[in-house]
Amino acid sequence: MDFDTLYSNIDQKLQIIEKDNPYNAFLSTLPESVKELKSRVKQEDYEKSRLAGVTLGIKDNIHIKGHSVSCASKILEDYTAPYNATVIDKIKDAGGIMVGKTNMDEFAMGSSTEYSAFGNVLNPSNTEKVPGGSSGGSAAAVAGDLVDVALGSDTGGSIRQPAAFCGIVGIKPTYGRVSRYGLVAFASSLDQIGPFGRSVEDAARLLEVIAGYDKNDSTSVDIEVPEYTNYVDKDIRGKTIGIPTEYFDQGLNKDINNRIQDVIKFLEKSGAEIRSISLPHTSYAVAAYYIIATAEASSNLARYDGIRYGLSEREAGLQEVYRDTRHAGFGQEVKRRILLGTYVLSSGYYEAYYDKAQRIRRLIKEDFTEAFEEVDVIFTPTTPTTAFDIGGKVEDPLAMYLSDVYTVPINLAGVPAISIPLGNDADGLPIGGQIIAPDFQEQDLIQVGDFLEKNYIQ
Ligand code: GLN
Repeated sequence: MDFDTLYSNIDQKLQIIEKDNPYNAFLSTLPESVKELKSRVKQEDYEKSRLAGVTLGIKDNIHIKGHSVSCASKILEDYTAPYNATVIDKIKDAGGIMVGKTNMDEFAMGSSTEYSAFGNVLNPSNTEKVPGGSSGGSAAAVAGDLVDVALGSDTGGSIRQPAAFCGIVGIKPTYGRVSRYGLVAFASSLDQIGPFGRSVEDAARLLEVIAGYDKNDSTSVDIEVPEYTNYVDKDIRGKTIGIPTEYFDQGLNKDINNRIQDVIKFLEKSGAEIRSISLPHTSYAVAAYYIIATAEASSNLARYDGIRYGLSEREAGLQEVYRDTRHAGFGQEVKRRILLGTYVLSSGYYEAYYDKAQRIRRLIKEDFTEAFEEVDVIFTPTTPTTAFDIGGKVEDPLAMYLSDVYTVPINLAGVPAISIPLGNDADGLPIGGQIIAPDFQEQDLIQVGDFLEKNYIQ
């Protein structure tokens, strides 16, 4: 596609976003992208780029130099990124066209995008429902056809859960697969950047572009990146697929359960070997996650002190600067997490909470390691319910936290997982299925996910 046609197409999209901001999916736009591309790349080279003509939304906790990176928080409202995240450099090199920064739960803490300081996001499949969170803006932008693909971040489910709620594909890569350099930290031992797409292949292509070792992120791992897009259009004969009994408890919605059971039968008919497995420590995952994630968050968010970044309330002395800035800048949920995290790390409670949570994390990792000695991938529902009502859980943090039961164990173990759409429930709301693979085996997620997308008929 030539630059001028591309420019006018993108311009139309930008105008729609700037005028109406459908679903409140975006927090800002990036109108210079095509001009910048044109000044940098020759037309004939561009045609060959991996993301030629592909439009992207970028979650607003990822740095794009010279542009705001608010994390949907008042405390960073006027903060400008001084450098590019590594994933952004990679997207630019691949010719991707970044259209805007997407709305999210403040600092990526939440499961519904209602904790954004700049208004909640609507679910394109039903605007009375939440899109999930925390990457709800990215999911809505892709599901609502405002962009082709998007980046989100997933600490406890923030890519897979909104993908499931909005009826699209979302991938949480292995911890260390994608550089976190330039991602605003929430819980550093759990955070990963990953792609959203309307098809498995689209998400796979974006993953292929952003994955790989980065000297600026010491937790990124130097393992070759396979060409994920080579794993589409394959069959799944001979693959062993584990079904963990713990993921089919009473909390699971009936329509979702029926759908997942139907898909399991289909997988078996298609030549996969289905095995019932156990991940015995699953029920401790949410508790361990909300201790580890909040502990790390309380430490990571200490840097927003009114001195170094963004908002600064400087009416009085130093203690007051800290207090007043944080009081004015952080929303309720972020404050709750900082308090919780500070508490579980404090002397006298550290052993009882943080230390114990770390031990549980180890056991959860071992559950997966043992399971993967027997099976190639694991298949589960992504969420216990479909998208819930706007306002339905904001006042009840525990209910909100429980919507992550099937996604947080994966972050604690560090393994990769994908959520793919598997039709709708009786109310027409999307159902998501989660496929989990061993460390650095994302290609298996692509293979099984793409097979289901193209062959499973509800
Ligand atoms: N919903 C989870 C939380 O609130 C996960 C968030 C995320 O993955 N960023 O912590």
